[in-house]
Amino acid sequence: MPATEFKCPDGTVTKITDCLEHCPNSSRCMFLPTLKAIAKSLNRNLAEPTITELLQGTRETYLKKVTNYSVDPFAQYFALHGTAVHNLHNENSDNMLAEIRLYDGVMSGQFDVFGKVLNNDTNTLGDYKVTTSYKAMKVLGYYKVDIPTGEVYKTGVHKGEPKFRKEWRTDGIRDVLEWTIQLNYYRMLLETRGFKVGNMYIQMIVRDYSTRIAAERNITRPVYIVPIRRISDHWLKLYLQTKAQRLKHALTTNNMPKPCSSKENWNGRKCVDYCAVAEHCPYGAGLKARNEGLAA
Ligand code: SF4
Ligand code: SF4
Repeated sequence: MPATEFKCPDGTVTKITDCLEHCPNSSRCMFLPTLKAIAKSLNRNLAEPTITELLQGTRETYLKKVTNYSVDPFAQYFALHGTAVHNLHNENSDNMLAEIRLYDGVMSGQFDVFGKVLNNDTNTLGDYKVTTSYKAMKVLGYYKVDIPTGEVYKTGVHKGEPKFRKEWRTDGIRDVLEWTIQLNYYRMLLETRGFKVGNMYIQMIVRDYSTRIAAERNITRPVYIVPIRRISDHWLKLYLQTKAQRLKHALTTNNMPKPCSSKENWNGRKCVDYCAVAEHCPYGAGLKARNEGLAA
């Protein structure tokens, strides 16, 4: 089942069809074309699960398929930016394959671009990602270390203790597992059709790159090209087929899968603030209630 309602800024809920027809307030919270575009981007009617759905927690995907749920149009706004970025690039991808959905009988995936995007010799499989400076810092493996300055505090509670300054390092663990699985899946789909994929890259577009907080995260550019390594087809198939089977089993038996893992639900942060189906999920609803109780 799809997202059928918008959560309005005043906390009420309105059917998306009603919202587009006639907002109950004197003025819409966004321009009508924006709301229409958001509504259009929400629901896809594909028989097989997509790779994006399988990368989410199985419970989240299951609930999105079996419940009518509401979404905050403001929270969807940046996803719309992502769609616009894709469309813009797609229009300029002559002599390349772009935005093609491929199926393998179990699931499907739509890659962004395949061709000579970085140089004229290699066929690169590429994906566009619009993201935040926080995510960009994690993806690039940036982190700070304390470097002794050679000085000590002369007064105060830290008197006599050494002083440190922060220095950036760029060799940390890169948080790219999801993107790696996604791109490798597209690679596998292309290779089984006879295409030779030379390498894989993400073009990461940082939407808040010009802010002070982005500079504090060592993010200074709007665009970064992120290499994605090749992973084993055997592992990939095993992982994705297991997730696809879990989802299929839940849907055919109508049994809610176990809560999303801590990685999938960002240690509960997604359940509390970002999961559109949290109110249909006993685990998420419990976490939210506990949080609200603590905040009261
Ligand atoms: S325009 Fe905004 S406030 Fe009005 S119904 Fe739609 S989502 Fe709600
Ligand atoms: S609330 Fe949390 S556990 Fe429940 S579906 Fe959403 S992300 Fe998964």
